[in-house]
Amino acid sequence: MSAEPDAAALLARLINHEFPDERGRYGPYGGRFVPETLVPPLDRLMAGMRAVLNEDDFQNELNSQLQHWVGRPTPLTRAERLSAAWGAEVWLKREDLAHTGAHKINNAIGQALLAKRLGVKRIIAETGAGQHGVASAAACARLGMPCRVYMGEVDVARQAPNVDRMERLGAEVVAVTNGDRTLRAAIDEALRDWVSSPLDTWYLLGSAVGPHPYPELVCHFQSVIGNEARQQMLDQAGRLPDAAVACVGGGSNAIGLFHPLIADTQIELLGVEAGGRSMGLGDNAASLVAGTPGVLHGCFSMLLQDENGQVHETHSVSAGLDYPSVGPEHALLQLTGRARYVTADDDQALDALNECCAMEGILPAIETAHAFFGAREYAREHPGCCILIGVSGRGDKDLPTLQQLAGVAS
Ligand SMILES: *Cc1c(COP(=O)(O)O)cnc(C)c1O
Repeated sequence: MSAEPDAAALLARLINHEFPDERGRYGPYGGRFVPETLVPPLDRLMAGMRAVLNEDDFQNELNSQLQHWVGRPTPLTRAERLSAAWGAEVWLKREDLAHTGAHKINNAIGQALLAKRLGVKRIIAETGAGQHGVASAAACARLGMPCRVYMGEVDVARQAPNVDRMERLGAEVVAVTNGDRTLRAAIDEALRDWVSSPLDTWYLLGSAVGPHPYPELVCHFQSVIGNEARQQMLDQAGRLPDAAVACVGGGSNAIGLFHPLIADTQIELLGVEAGGRSMGLGDNAASLVAGTPGVLHGCFSMLLQDENGQVHETHSVSAGLDYPSVGPEHALLQLTGRARYVTADDDQALDALNECCAMEGILPAIETAHAFFGAREYAREHPGCCILIGVSGRGDKDLPTLQQLAGVAS
């Protein structure tokens, strides 16, 4: 069987916005691989989503929160000095300027508003580095809803300032002592909680992963990034970019930037994964570049697993990219060739972070720095090109990590 005619047909359907299909599939990827008990709440979530997302009332309320509380639209900044240094025209979509410092708030306030609208009384969320936990805690405080955040014990210890932030914002943080005691175990625990009280609880999932319809729902709320950026490029640059570049962990900021640009087929979409220490299994978090197909957290996608199908632990200097799988829409974008995925390793990301600080006066998150490295490589290969970089978040949260690394280096 040749894969090529399949990929061409899938690409045509992708560009025609035919995914996800009614089963939540993105070509071969996506779907819903969950215990029976989660089918009714997922169906309820989907029915609510279909009924409410396009209502005028809901959209007005969401837009008002995005404008007056999140601080949208976020600016599009021309990166003058990086442009000169790279021999390219570089534009930055500034999610680092959104409330709580990253794009995650777009999804958190969107889902929390939807949950409230559908009459759900209690929110649970998972968090790895703590950024999604902080965004969820903030959104729930804003809407007056109780919030419980599951966080691996290991992460609780290494991200203490974010635990403090979540608690100040009124969330209850539960340390997960099972499994790998990091993000993967936190998601397992949140799913377990949801199974035990599916009807009065909303699971506020933080990236474009998980069972159908989460990838679609998260993409919906994050697409504000690409929709704004597309219009801002036309208004400020007078053109669309040759390439749009974003870092990819679970894939939510990248899909938010890419999704509204899929039909603009002249724009190259470039996702940058965490290359970590090396491309050996366990040394990176590059699920698309180095993974194989498999199921994790209810979704069929690309996965870092060994030859027995055991999901492997990951490594990245950026906690936010440290997830062994990736959203199914990215897996399809890669399969069809509509987007291309590369890696930046720990050192390359840190180098790009320093360059961005020195040249633009912007301290990006270490996650985001992976996108800057990928963009610089792209500019090297395409002299004179116009590049749009998704600046997913700010790096203030990373100062302890950067200090620690500097200490190790000296
Ligand atoms: C969480 C996070 C990411 C990675 O998550 P995605 O779902 O892949 O976007 C990237 N950048 C920042 C700043 C983050 O906080």
